[in-house]
Amino acid sequence: MTTRVGVFGASGRMGATVCQAVAGDHELELVAAVDPHHAGLDLRQATGVDVPGLMIMPDTDGLDQVGVDVMVDFTVLQAARNNLRWCAENGIHAVFGTTGFSDDDYAELRKLFRKSNCFIAPNFAIGAALMMRFAERAAPYFETAEILELHHDEKVDAPSGTALMTAERMAAASEEWAKDPTKKEVLKGARGGRGAGGIRVHSVRLRGLVAHQEVLLGTTGQSLSIRHDSYDRNSFMPGVLLAVKTVAGRSGLTVGLDALVEV
Ligand code: NAP
Repeated sequence: MTTRVGVFGASGRMGATVCQAVAGDHELELVAAVDPHHAGLDLRQATGVDVPGLMIMPDTDGLDQVGVDVMVDFTVLQAARNNLRWCAENGIHAVFGTTGFSDDDYAELRKLFRKSNCFIAPNFAIGAALMMRFAERAAPYFETAEILELHHDEKVDAPSGTALMTAERMAAASEEWAKDPTKKEVLKGARGGRGAGGIRVHSVRLRGLVAHQEVLLGTTGQSLSIRHDSYDRNSFMPGVLLAVKTVAGRSGLTVGLDALVEV
């Protein structure tokens, strides 16, 4: 039996790539595409993904009649919050990649998802999961660390969810961080934002990039750089498909790809 999948943000950069990946997987069936951007258009016309007769819906009206098992979401934070609520209320499993959720959001989702399950990952690339793991492992051996995240020039949130999560995991692994020596910030923001543990996070937005991150760690006389690069949105697809296929078996809320892949 195939799993019936719908995609929120189906005509966006990530959403269209997810539609393509789902359509190409024989265990999955793409049955719904939701996106106000190309509402009313045939999915093939809007994205080139060849699923005959699949029209893009503007919103969740009528979505409960389609018989979806899992909804995937790559949209914007506020839309994703509403879409999550819809999934929970309608007992549909949720696989969400939209970034920016806070601890308060996670606390609310733990209460909301009773009839179905929810999987959220700020980064679905296996290399990024490994980068976060290596950074967490390295943290206790260094007193200073900074995170540099680099993305394409249309990303609307900063810093990235991956950078925030990396800082949180490094801060949880070590409390021994040196104080920031900066006395005067000549240009406001020059030292980046303060993530968990006071770890500085710097966001670069550059045309031509996809998603990249470098974790820099320094101690006396040496430094360590851990870098991950996603050159193509297909880098996220094995993680997304794995989450879609396994979310039904994971009760409640799960956050982070490393819950699915041992790294
Ligand atoms: P994008 O190209 O702007 O696509 C977002 C799409 O969602 C747009 O077509 C947008 O339409 C649509 N949308 C807005 N509100 C909606 C709603 N209520 N229901 C359905 N669709 C809605 O953005 P993207 O580059 O694909 O990125 C999307 C999200 O994924 C971002 O949060 C990004 O950080 C995240 N991301 C996560 C990963 C990961 O591995 N977890 C990887 C890459 C990106 P309009 O244009 O009309 O608003």
